[in-house]
Amino acid sequence: MKKLLASEVLPDLETGIAAEIGALRGRGVEPALAVILAGDNPESQAYVGRKRKMAEKLGLRSVECNLPAGISQRELEAEIHRLNGDPDIHGVLCQLPLPGHLDGNRIPELIDPLKDVDCFHPYNFGLLARGTPRFVPCTAAGILALLAHYRIALSGRQVVVIGRSNIVGRPLSLLLSQKGHDATVTLCHSRTADLPRIASRAHILVAAIGSPEWVVPEMIAEGATVIDVGMNRVEDPSRPRGYRLVGDVDFEAASARASAITPVPGGVGPLTVVMLMRNTVLAARLQSGHGA
Ligand code: NAP
Repeated sequence: MKKLLASEVLPDLETGIAAEIGALRGRGVEPALAVILAGDNPESQAYVGRKRKMAEKLGLRSVECNLPAGISQRELEAEIHRLNGDPDIHGVLCQLPLPGHLDGNRIPELIDPLKDVDCFHPYNFGLLARGTPRFVPCTAAGILALLAHYRIALSGRQVVVIGRSNIVGRPLSLLLSQKGHDATVTLCHSRTADLPRIASRAHILVAAIGSPEWVVPEMIAEGATVIDVGMNRVEDPSRPRGYRLVGDVDFEAASARASAITPVPGGVGPLTVVMLMRNTVLAARLQSGHGA
């Protein structure tokens, strides 16, 4: 069983993105990403920290807008409008989840579609759905890069994606089935009947569910490629932090059947972050008129 590692995919991606940032800088454009974080959710803070580190590594300007947990919807939306109007900011994202009193569903429509580096805006999602994406959602883009790096063929193959969220499963299934990738995709969810049987026919199985180690060997075809998107904290008193990260796939058990599998951590997660940087560079190019 081969481990599909972000660390093997990242160097080329990082070099390419850093070079593009350098080229834009040479033309007087400093690509910049603004991340809005409302409240003090430790997991969200950790995600924002990872984005900051990657931005620093690649030479991309990263601006953090830390808002108090008690901020009102109106104030949050005013902050988004301010960033939309700032010509020195090219990408805007709002870290989810938001504190409970805020309406996260409204946010995607408020971010300027040209600055929508998460690709959540309905216009950008529409472009993606019709097969002409402007931005590719970061996790889906990371998975495509990983599959390309390891030369895992997609054309004509059966892919089963478990999870239909607008962040991961749905955009990924749209992309994989589009011309150029040409996979035959089945999108499963919590109401899918007979899911283990459907999953066990997949050449490539993607789990984006949010349930620790939910995918067991019976759901995996012999020799399949397994992409584990899940990032779940489970209690582990033996760890200094009191928890460890596990995916949606029971890695050890799945290893006996899969031919290749992404570990958690170290698989899809770091690729999502680098693709956010790539989308920010694309946004900077679009807004500065330096081509896309
Ligand atoms: P989400 O919005 O909660 O969506 C979960 C999806 O899984 C839903 O479509 C749900 O079905 C489906 N599901 C839940 N339980 C199921 C079950 N027992 N059987 C079949 N389907 C089931 O989650 P998400 O935002 O897509 O995230 C999924 C996981 O990926 C989480 O662990 C998250 O932390 C992780 N994630 C990782 C990255 C990364 O970079 N690695 C990025 C984003 C998310 P229904 O629609 O029917 O409810």
